[in-house]
Amino acid sequence: MNEVKDLMLNMLIILLPIFVYQTFWIDKASLPMVSSRNRSAISLLAAIAALCCMMFPVHPYPGYVLDLRLVPLLIGILYGGFRAALMIIAGVYLYSWHLGVPGFLVMAMTYPPAIITAFLLAARFRLWERRRKLTTASLLAFLAALLVNTVVLLFLDEPLLTNPHLPVFAAYVVLHGFTMWISVYLIENMREKAALRFEIQQAEKMRIMGQLAASIAHEVRNPMTVVRGFLQLLQSDQIPSDKRQMFLKLGIDELDRSESIISNYLAFARPQVSRIEAVDAAERVEHAAGIISSYATLRNVEINTRTTPGLFIEADPEHLSQVLMNLIKNGIEAMQHGGVLTIIAVPDDAENARIEVADTGVGMTPDETSRLGNPFFSTKQDGTGLGIMVTYQIIQSMNGKIEVESAKGAGTRFIITLPRKSDLLAGRK
Ligand code: ADP
Ligand code: MG
Repeated sequence: MNEVKDLMLNMLIILLPIFVYQTFWIDKASLPMVSSRNRSAISLLAAIAALCCMMFPVHPYPGYVLDLRLVPLLIGILYGGFRAALMIIAGVYLYSWHLGVPGFLVMAMTYPPAIITAFLLAARFRLWERRRKLTTASLLAFLAALLVNTVVLLFLDEPLLTNPHLPVFAAYVVLHGFTMWISVYLIENMREKAALRFEIQQAEKMRIMGQLAASIAHEVRNPMTVVRGFLQLLQSDQIPSDKRQMFLKLGIDELDRSESIISNYLAFARPQVSRIEAVDAAERVEHAAGIISSYATLRNVEINTRTTPGLFIEADPEHLSQVLMNLIKNGIEAMQHGGVLTIIAVPDDAENARIEVADTGVGMTPDETSRLGNPFFSTKQDGTGLGIMVTYQIIQSMNGKIEVESAKGAGTRFIITLPRKSDLLAGRK
């Protein structure tokens, strides 16, 4: 029975890294397990799990060990990608060689069918629905374990069915299937949650895009009217050539301006893949202020920015833009009768940068402030109450901090602190 207990310890060794992964990695990416960082995390954790299993095996016969290393190995192949899988396999085989030759030989003979099957399945596996993944993966682990057992017993010329160690062997096979089932279930569950978070973030962004689009259309129409007027004037022959030059230049300037409004807007609308890099915070703030300027003008809001140029932070540029956009838009919406929106991006101390978005709008009561970030908390008629939630999630995923100061009737200030990147590393522009 003790041996069965030891095998269950193996099971815990495998489940623990999955929780570790969920806690430390998955929140950092909006598209889980796509980035190479995520893949390296998976392969590292799977390799550690496999090696730890091998450190706590059971020994039914001298020289032979039984453990659940096959499970993390297969998970690594199915979820981690080709390179990760090769790393894990190499690690497991090397360590097994170090542990003893008979065990290594058994492994060399019995693992390849399972490994090859997993490799063949890996590409399609990702597309399957959860139930199919669960059955296939557990069945694979179960059959692989059965094969290992059979070969070990044949190798030793021991009886198969009347074996005194039968409970251990049975537990070994069953636990393979079971551990695989739980592992895949947990992984799928957490991936679904992460995907949902990503979708909410996208949906909230699209909502803002839709609302901005109207004001941008408005903003672009002005220059078009101006250009049309100039073209009409240029139609007549009586215009002196210096005037003609001036009209042409003004017309071109107007067109350039609308072109930049549109391309800014499109850059923000682009779907994004998460990547943390050195980002110029000042540039992002000015960029966001630029996109929103037409919306602000329409609502009688003046935008002031104060930024320290070349203030590099570690962030995802698209996500940072989205955070700024959410906060700026809330600020503008809080000022029904116009007002001043102040955005600053300055160094806080040697390690951190501070970004603030402050308005002179309606403000919030302490009760409202404490409810910020709860999904669906909104005081607006067409509000979703997702903007602040998404904002908090993004800031958290970039290892930052966000605080609110608000007074009813006076205004609100959001203060974000994000880690700075040293200018040297960022390679100053
Ligand atoms: P929505 O804008 O769709 O209502 P948000 O998550 O962006 O959702 O904001 C949630 C709520 O927080 C708002 O409805 C509003 O009551 C409050 N809020 C957010 N920002 C401000 C602000 N700058 N001034 C006053 N209230 C704010
Ligand atoms: Mg909002």
